[in-house]
Amino acid sequence: MRRFFVLISLFLFLLPCSVSALSLDDKQLSDSRKKLYRKIESRTHVPWYLIGAVDQYEKNVRLARRDLPKQTGLAGLYIPPDKWSGALNPKAYESEPAAIALFGGMGRDGDGDGKADRNNDTDVLYSFAEYLASYGMRMDDYRIGLWEYYQRDKSVGIIFNHMKLIKKYKRFNLKERAFPVSLRSDYSYRSTWGDARGWGGRRIHEGTDVFAGYGVAVKSSCFGVIEMKGWNRYGGWRVGIRDFNNTYHYYAHLNGFAKGLKEGQIVTPGQVIGSVGSSGYGPPGTAGKFPPHLHYGMYKDNGRTEWSFDPYPHMKMWERAEKKALRKKRK
Ligand SMILES: [Zn+2]
Repeated sequence: MRRFFVLISLFLFLLPCSVSALSLDDKQLSDSRKKLYRKIESRTHVPWYLIGAVDQYEKNVRLARRDLPKQTGLAGLYIPPDKWSGALNPKAYESEPAAIALFGGMGRDGDGDGKADRNNDTDVLYSFAEYLASYGMRMDDYRIGLWEYYQRDKSVGIIFNHMKLIKKYKRFNLKERAFPVSLRSDYSYRSTWGDARGWGGRRIHEGTDVFAGYGVAVKSSCFGVIEMKGWNRYGGWRVGIRDFNNTYHYYAHLNGFAKGLKEGQIVTPGQVIGSVGSSGYGPPGTAGKFPPHLHYGMYKDNGRTEWSFDPYPHMKMWERAEKKALRKKRK
């Protein structure tokens, strides 16, 4: 019975801007992670939401890369052997804290069992938090520590965006999705990802075009943070949103933006971010060179590079789920 109420309340909480009810397992997993990060915070004073953001980033990178071992525990964070044990340590996977210290490695014993075990969630997260804390206790200090570790502005930016979402929603199961164009409008789309396109040289079509009338609401498909907003001669007025899975959602050819929309802002699934237009293919303000449509692209980042993948199957899924939820609501 209790399980039923939890499900119902979750479902009510998520309506109307999202479509999929979360399973209890997602919630339990999210709670367990939060507990783990809070434990690390209590020992290192590094904020749990920052530890959680790093862990979320690492979890996503691991999912997108083949050269890294698969995640087995609750923590997603992977510290490579040279960093863990110390670069000159002849032993690749050292677990003796004294030996690690001697070679200047990051590995620490977080749970007090005398071993710095790189397969132990607490040890791994504690080690990273201690590393960050060595730079100081302010957010700017942590930022420097992150930059030194990743040597990539983009990675640091993504981690800070994840942190914003965690601070606001205090959970890690931000999986709800929405179709990027209002379902009440007259729209059409088909799978055109990878097609050759006419303007701007030899490029492939990195997205799905949703044809709809001028002014039809364009919505965020996910929980995320606005990473980019502005003009580009190909995309016209466009917005880029980074979600919690480290996927970048690109919306182009807009007629205009939602009022007050700005870079760094959090968006939720179904939130209106702009409207359908035909901007682009020229200097700022150019419009009408093609029929109005939303160009929707999805890009995956693996911590090194970013690449486009076909949004079509995902859009079909979100559309179906949202229609189903709407029917349920009407009954
Ligand atoms: Zn397009």
